[in-house]
Amino acid sequence: MRVDPGKKFGGRECPSCAVEVEINNNRCPICGYEFSHPSPRQKYMKIWGAIIMLIIFGLLVLRIF
Ligand SMILES: [Zn+2]
Repeated sequence: MRVDPGKKFGGRECPSCAVEVEINNNRCPICGYEFSHPSPRQKYMKIWGAIIMLIIFGLLVLRIF
């Protein structure tokens, strides 16, 4: 299986320095340009993760004491 270097595969062009950056890389490795901020859903997931961790931690503490 050959990879065509001219074909764009999973990449996007940095608007700052015009270098191709991998789609899963949110930051340009050349100039440090940040592509997209985390979506609101991802933020909610982080908040819920923190809440769940606190609940689990609280349960553990309550069982110990
Ligand atoms: Zn760049």
